[in-house]
Amino acid sequence: MSTTTAEIRVDENELREFEDSFSGQLTRPAGATYDDQRKIWNGSIDRRPALIARCAGVADVIAAVRFAREQGLLAALRSGGHSYPGLSVCDAGMVIDLRQMKGIRVDPQARTARAQAGVLLGELDREAQVFGLAVPAGIVTHTGLAGLTLGGGIGWLERKYGLTIDQLLSVDLVTVDGEFVKASETENPDLFWGVRGGGGNFGIVTEFEFRLNPVGPMVLAGPILWAMEDSPEVMRFYRDWITEVPDELTTIVTYRRVLPSPLVPSELHGKHVVIVGCCYAGPVEEGEEVLRPLRTFGSPLLDMCEPKPFVAHQASLDPAFPHGWWYYIRSCNLAQLNDEVIDTMADHGSRIASPVTVCSIFHLGGAVAGVGEADAAFTGREAGHTVNVIGITKSGEGFDPEREWARGLWSALEPHHQNVYVNFLMEEGEERIRQAYGGGKYDRLKTLKRKYDAGNFLRLNQNIPPG
Ligand SMILES: Cc1cc2nc3c(=O)[nH]c(=O)nc-3n(C[C@H](O)[C@H](O)[C@H](O)COP(=O)(O)OP(=O)(O)OC[C@H]3O[C@@H](n4cnc5c(N)ncnc54)[C@H](O)[C@@H]3O)c2cc1C
Repeated sequence: MSTTTAEIRVDENELREFEDSFSGQLTRPAGATYDDQRKIWNGSIDRRPALIARCAGVADVIAAVRFAREQGLLAALRSGGHSYPGLSVCDAGMVIDLRQMKGIRVDPQARTARAQAGVLLGELDREAQVFGLAVPAGIVTHTGLAGLTLGGGIGWLERKYGLTIDQLLSVDLVTVDGEFVKASETENPDLFWGVRGGGGNFGIVTEFEFRLNPVGPMVLAGPILWAMEDSPEVMRFYRDWITEVPDELTTIVTYRRVLPSPLVPSELHGKHVVIVGCCYAGPVEEGEEVLRPLRTFGSPLLDMCEPKPFVAHQASLDPAFPHGWWYYIRSCNLAQLNDEVIDTMADHGSRIASPVTVCSIFHLGGAVAGVGEADAAFTGREAGHTVNVIGITKSGEGFDPEREWARGLWSALEPHHQNVYVNFLMEEGEERIRQAYGGGKYDRLKTLKRKYDAGNFLRLNQNIPPG
């Protein structure tokens, strides 16, 4: 006896047996919460899985993997649900949903933290910042820790403390055979190398262990805004100035129109601007000195860089990237911001139509570059900058022109492209994934994939096929 659910056939008895053994919830298309459960952050993705297995713990993850394999189901892994191309949800198949696995344990004496796969960045920050500690991670609090870490993890602390993976001590992982393993520098070191940048290709991580480092809790941080017309001069100054700033300072440049926030004078709303967002992860007074030349350059329209709790700074970009808007992303790494790049950015930046579209440039270097390129699967430590062009609309209306704008800027930067950060890829095909890792590492990752997932069960990801 079998049943059809959203285009798949599963054995009804085995499904019932699976359901009985599962302590989380199984959601099927007829379920009352199905439409809510299948939504992910990017509103342009609309997929209908046959089963959503909302795991309560490791035992559920093992049961879900075994059931999916036995039934020959396609499986998507969902932690924070922030995959830009929507790889955490599938049509038909099963979503192994880890959202409910929220455990966090901070040990302030040992300066370590354990966090389960469903933890979001803001949740870990909250627990660690009580002790003035932090893991370097991303810039939006509702991003999933799991997907971000497995791709590398860049953000406001990167130049001081490196990538998220640079503070990773170990992972607990369920293999595609439903076995529980650990990986660290000393246990399954090949797997530990692979999960630090190789994404969700090798197994399902159920828990992460991180080293914590002192941050704040007060930091000097926030955006400084100049008119887009001034951006060529501001950015020429910026690219020279950042060569001399200490690693405590991480900056992210953004081209956009000003959001109509109550924190910003209304005459600036909708205006095209270039913004230098700052975070000084050291004493506030020291940060004031370091930032003075930038803050006094040209004629800033607004300077919102001030002492604030690190957690407040971490949440400051949340309103720019809410759940449910439509997003299209193109990304590349750049060696440097040469004149041509700066002029291209100014030209395309001034033509942003959507009030919510952005282009951000992360400044790398510092501790990111201080780790050997061969130490982990992540690739691109020597890049100067990571560019993230995001065409955004609040719904499907007007989305196509924003997507074209994003493609146009990305293509205009093509002569300067280095590789690409794997977490900023859309579904762009195998050649782009190879570019992300470079040929040598890509081959090593394929060998690792053959060892841990020879049948490519985990293929809804930036896939490294085993073949
Ligand atoms: C608003 C926003 C802001 C962002 N900011 C940053 C940033 O500042 N820095 C940065 O580095 N990146 C950033 N990103 C990119 C982000 O790192 C990726 O989108 C990442 O995949 C999100 O992780 P997630 O758990 O939320 O994703 P999900 O969509 O849940 O998962 C994405 C993929 O990761 C894999 N995966 C997820 N969980 C597991 C698991 N437990 N075990 C094995 N594989 C798993 C799967 O392949 C899955 O398809 C941002 C993304 C968004 C949407």
